[in-house]
Amino acid sequence: MKISGYAVYEKKSLLKPYEYAPTKLGPKEVLIKISHCGICHSDIHLIDDDWNVSKYPFIPGHEIIGEIVECGNEVKKVKIGQRVGVGWQSGSCLECEWCASGQENLCPEQVATCVGRNGGFAQYVITDSRFVFAIPDKLTSENAAPLLCGGITVYSPLKRYNVKPKDKVGVIGVGGLGHLAIQFARAMGCEVTAFSTSPDKEEEAKRFGAHSFVLTKNLNELKKAENTLDFIISTVYTKLEWINYVNALKPNGNLCFVGATFDNLDFPAGVLMLGQKQVSGSVIGGRAMIAEMLEFAARNNIVAKTEVFPLNDVNRAIEKVRNNTIRYRAVLKI
Ligand code: NAP
Ligand code: ZN
Repeated sequence: MKISGYAVYEKKSLLKPYEYAPTKLGPKEVLIKISHCGICHSDIHLIDDDWNVSKYPFIPGHEIIGEIVECGNEVKKVKIGQRVGVGWQSGSCLECEWCASGQENLCPEQVATCVGRNGGFAQYVITDSRFVFAIPDKLTSENAAPLLCGGITVYSPLKRYNVKPKDKVGVIGVGGLGHLAIQFARAMGCEVTAFSTSPDKEEEAKRFGAHSFVLTKNLNELKKAENTLDFIISTVYTKLEWINYVNALKPNGNLCFVGATFDNLDFPAGVLMLGQKQVSGSVIGGRAMIAEMLEFAARNNIVAKTEVFPLNDVNRAIEKVRNNTIRYRAVLKI
């Protein structure tokens, strides 16, 4: 058997058809016939080798939904015919202190679905059965696929940092992650402010649940947000004037980075001290948190707003993610 998909052959290039022979299914592995795969901005970072971890050629894609078609002989958790999802992570040691405390996302031996391996822009994927998740019936595959990475990445810090229904939450960037963050925070009872560079996103951000919308190019608007928020989640991958957002926090507030911004922070540490403020980060989420997030999304009708593309149109979809014209998550229908 050969698995066919679309791979990136060299840094920053267009994807082209690609075939590979899968390894023999390990005892705990499953073969999944993919029906849908979201395009996360992390796939773009990998295509461009922004993180110096990409090995070409490889098939990107880590917001996968499909059906199990084959199981290794020690697979217990899932069965053939079941609809499941796979996210960024597809393995860990399951023994270290991080795995033992449900934080497999911090395991030093973690395996990523499409780093050094082939991911979900393909007909099939092979993965560890202990990192696949049942998808609640209520969620359609198209709208649920982006929850597997985008959804968990924004749900997890809202839970970990104990955001409460009375809290005022800011979301920077109304993209794939951001539009889900608005929905989750709203469903948790919070008052939500969206910070965006795109004026045309205001109406929809409010439909997703934002109570207010700040066009960040307008510095006066940003100033008005000073001292108003308990928790801010940044989903952007660019350098911003972070001091504006630290100032937007109330005392004891927390600015949490989930967007992959690797520039230095440049504000005086004293502003954190004076307001007892925190700056934090968060990366995907552990397995228990993913299962909880999927259930929470199903109960609260939290779904990604998607634009669907056939697999052979993957380059057009990627282009729309790159130029920020996608609304709000590109999903490949395989
Ligand atoms: P996305 O769909 O492309 O959304 C990013 C948003 O950032 C855009 O929609 C845009 O929102 C805003 N933006 C773009 N250019 C900007 C600029 N120059 N200045 C200010 N804002 C800008 O990306 P995504 O899939 O949500 O991913 C976002 C980031 O999260 C990526 O870096 C990705 O790698 C990272 N990520 C991290 C984790 C984790 O575990 N921590 C998991 C998944 C993804 P507006 O139009 O509203 O301004
Ligand atoms: Zn992702």
